[in-house]
Amino acid sequence: MTERYEGLKASSGIAIGNIYLFTREEIVVDNTKIEENAVETEFQRVKESIQSYIDDLSKLMGQSETQANIALAHTELLQDPYFTDTIESKITKDLKNAELALDETIKEMVETMSQIDDDYLRERASDYKDIGLQVMYKLKGIKAKDLSNLDEGSIVIAEELTPSDTSNMNKKAVVGFATDLGGKTSHTSIIAQTLDLPALVGMGDISKKVKGGEVSIIDSNEGILIINPTDEEIETYKKLIAEEKDRKERLKTLKDSKAITTDGKKIEVSANIGNIEDLKIAIENGCDGVGLFRTEFLYMQSSDFPTEDYQFEVYKEATELLGDKPLIVRTLDIGGDKGLDYFDFPKEDNPFLGYRAIRLCLDKVSMFKDQLRALVRASAYGNLKIMVPFVISPSELKKVRELVEEIKKDLDDKGIAYNKDLDIGIMVETPAAVLMADKFIKYADFFSIGTNDLTQYTLSVDRGNDNIANLYSNYNPAVLRAIKHVIDVSHEAGKWTGMCGAFASDTEATKLLLGLGLDEFSGSSAKIAEIKDIVMRSSTEVEAEFANKVLDLEETDEVEKYVSDYNEQNL
Ligand code: PEP
Ligand code: MG
Repeated sequence: MTERYEGLKASSGIAIGNIYLFTREEIVVDNTKIEENAVETEFQRVKESIQSYIDDLSKLMGQSETQANIALAHTELLQDPYFTDTIESKITKDLKNAELALDETIKEMVETMSQIDDDYLRERASDYKDIGLQVMYKLKGIKAKDLSNLDEGSIVIAEELTPSDTSNMNKKAVVGFATDLGGKTSHTSIIAQTLDLPALVGMGDISKKVKGGEVSIIDSNEGILIINPTDEEIETYKKLIAEEKDRKERLKTLKDSKAITTDGKKIEVSANIGNIEDLKIAIENGCDGVGLFRTEFLYMQSSDFPTEDYQFEVYKEATELLGDKPLIVRTLDIGGDKGLDYFDFPKEDNPFLGYRAIRLCLDKVSMFKDQLRALVRASAYGNLKIMVPFVISPSELKKVRELVEEIKKDLDDKGIAYNKDLDIGIMVETPAAVLMADKFIKYADFFSIGTNDLTQYTLSVDRGNDNIANLYSNYNPAVLRAIKHVIDVSHEAGKWTGMCGAFASDTEATKLLLGLGLDEFSGSSAKIAEIKDIVMRSSTEVEAEFANKVLDLEETDEVEKYVSDYNEQNL
């Protein structure tokens, strides 16, 4: 009997194959305490296991750039002193055995990362799980099952796949995968995108519903997995696969093209990144620049506020990698749910409306100046721009500008180079910034709309609350009117507006956003070629007419239907 299941689209595409059910050996961690004289040997075992896994990872360096970059990121996590110090302390102080110390450390790290209401950062939890598992295998002498020698045409179904599992897949054999757990921005999903493997994640308990061997279709364009499809379905999908192959070939040729509309407007199609490894993936995907570098990751991975010099090296490397393409770096956006192990945030009833982002930075000026100084110094090496998040009054931006001026003066005195025309812009992600856009634009070189927060605050709908998830929509007319207003204000002042919220990566919205006048789209690297393709087949004039009709609608569902019907006919 044919069965259909829905999942989150992690990597687009369609495939037909036979299911391979991937299960993992259950790991039992013994919790008996060790003797004091075993402490040294026990910690030595952990160190050797970590080193052995680092050696394995170094073999991945010769593979695709994405896999090499992810291997590098995992190596950095393994070498992070906080990781090894925590394990060491559990062994030496609490007399825990090596396996237990490792298991607890990983669980604590995963727990911290999973609580963050930021898809990107939350997904980094799976990287910790992955390294924990691989080191545990080493400790226990278990040979990890690998996916490199499956039968041709396999669709892998698993509870969860780690980036290492996915990296090991042999593309000739595996045609797609689906997992119970996982998110769209995990490294597993990113690898699937670079390997061009159709993948679905977050499927609930799909691994419990299959036996293995069933003929199946994975359609991650529509987000469905069909088990035991009918003959007609197989025929239909074979045709779709052929069409899809042509489309992907075309997109590949587009990735390095300039995105210019049919009526001649150049659109920047940029990427959001959290670290250098993401940047390399973005460059591979043909980004026109970086529209959002989320620097909080640098802070969250450190055991103290990162120094000016450390940050300078990171920003300099990123700037240099991009050449003359823009690197827009967001100043520290910490607080809310994003905590730091080494900083005591005040207890607040509504931390999202509390002591966070620019509010905290302007309060801890000396810490903030380290970041600004690193940024100003790095601006000498390319096209770096500074972006200030979560502003509600022009005075906040003016204060940042004053600090930057002070820094520039000091650098002048010391003969240190920087870009004298360094642009400073703001993220428009609060209703106050929208309503005050005409005042902000006097002091901002550009706007970038953060729809993730702007939608949450415009609609008073918590972006992470499942109970009201149906109310959270970027297509709400109020959000669209806010976007239009911000873009118009910037254009009247001869400046530009980009978007770095997830709405920019929603290809259903590309024509609408072009019609609203957006100048830059910054989001998922995986979407760059597709967005360029739509831009190159659209006219801003035609889309402006369409956008005006949309702006006149009253309800979110009306907008969604209108946009979807329009795309069906015009995309
Ligand atoms: C946003 O709010 O749209 C945004 C890009 O910032 P973050 O998701 O990091 O809050
Ligand atoms: Mg935000």
